[in-house]
Amino acid sequence: MAETNSPRRPPKARVFVLYTGGTIGMVPKDGRPGNPLVPGSIEQIEQAVDRLLPSDLGIQCTVAGPLRDGPLDSSDVSAAHWKEIAHLVRDAYDQFDGFVILHGTDTMAYTSSVLSFMLENLGKPVVITGSQLPLSNPRTDARLNLVNSIYIAGYKATGLPRLSEVALCFGESLLRGCRARKDTTSDINGFDSPNFPPLGRLGEYISIDRRLLRRAPSARQRFAVFDDLLEDVALLDIFPTMTPELLRQMIAPEKKIPRVIIIRTFGAGNMQSERLHPGLIEVIREATARGKAIINVTQCRRGMVQQGLYEASAHLAEVGAISGADMTPEAALAKAFVVGGRTSGPGFAQQVLRDLVGEQSVTNHVVQFRQEAARHAASCRFQGDMPGTMDGDDLFEAVLVVSGVDTGGAPTRLRVFASAPGADPDTPESDGHFVAAKDLDGSSHRIAFPIKERFEQLFKAGGVLDLTLVNTNRAELAVRDVQLSVIERTVSL
Ligand code: ASP
Repeated sequence: MAETNSPRRPPKARVFVLYTGGTIGMVPKDGRPGNPLVPGSIEQIEQAVDRLLPSDLGIQCTVAGPLRDGPLDSSDVSAAHWKEIAHLVRDAYDQFDGFVILHGTDTMAYTSSVLSFMLENLGKPVVITGSQLPLSNPRTDARLNLVNSIYIAGYKATGLPRLSEVALCFGESLLRGCRARKDTTSDINGFDSPNFPPLGRLGEYISIDRRLLRRAPSARQRFAVFDDLLEDVALLDIFPTMTPELLRQMIAPEKKIPRVIIIRTFGAGNMQSERLHPGLIEVIREATARGKAIINVTQCRRGMVQQGLYEASAHLAEVGAISGADMTPEAALAKAFVVGGRTSGPGFAQQVLRDLVGEQSVTNHVVQFRQEAARHAASCRFQGDMPGTMDGDDLFEAVLVVSGVDTGGAPTRLRVFASAPGADPDTPESDGHFVAAKDLDGSSHRIAFPIKERFEQLFKAGGVLDLTLVNTNRAELAVRDVQLSVIERTVSL
């Protein structure tokens, strides 16, 4: 470890700079210009920090690194490296005001996402940066990225707002670590945060939007590193010509590994129907039935999974896929590593559905209903326990997914009533307890009712929601399963 830029007066801020590798520190192989780039030594980083920071700024930097495996091309990063980085931050936590991690750009968003979850109750800035061009290149972007990151981590000296989270500093943007994605292979603005605004803009001035920052932990919440990661996690894309055989090989329902599978689906969380692609959804059903967790994130760059919005995602909800909301694939993986290391079973799904460290814009509560005796053969009655508390104050969507519906085959209309156990085919839609209705051609087995409009009147935190479903053509009604997904915004933008 080397101390650079020691001011004569006591420093206002102490910053720990950890060099892990990446283009920022790379040099042409054998020193010959034009040769492939390979990771270089830490000395050039120390020299750069020394040269670039004005000595009267009041920031004292300590440069450490590389990791035990030597400077990395970040394509080599592994869970062992994340643990090593987290432990180095932990060991230095009390002596420093902020941390800068120099890292390759290729997997920087994975590392910034994983650290966002591993560093629990973080009360100091951890800023990850790197560059598209090496420090040694005359046109390098490394100098500005390095200096900006040190200014942000050394907030006590620069007067910038204090970050209590992992951030990624690159080009003109300061991004939340668990929202960032590598966007281009060569642009100087190499990263983006598609579903969350940048925490700051780095132009002529560094301007950080305090309203977007995570709140600092309370005095009772001690900083800790969670390092018992679940590594049996897979990430795979759903695509149009996928066959059940292929999906089966990747998800391996009958094997132990992988234990968590993140599927990247179409649009708002959709995948092929049972009608035209028989067998695909069955593979997922089998996997969840055997205790594997499936997390559903979108292939789109922006936007959110909303299971139940379309029939093409309602079947995923029904077989137990967990909505990954608007998480990036990197954040979904990171969350699976950490939450999977902490818990399994229903607790895992509950945690994944929550916004834990700002990685998603919503918290999703899934209420599973139980069947009760109905008073009429043409109706079915269900009860579900509503969540006791809501994290946010803004209801985004509420979708009731009713599956395994048998209405007797003839066309009909299915009505849903709340707190009306006696509702029957004669109860009109003008009744005050009416919630929603849909026309069915007699062959639908799964129906999604968006009920946001009625939800506020029906919802009582911690109360029991009593639903009666009525088959208006008077034939006997059978329903296997009712699920309510309540999605609330946890960030208001
Ligand atoms: N391959 C390099 C790395 O990720 C790319 C970079 O740093 O820009 O380490």
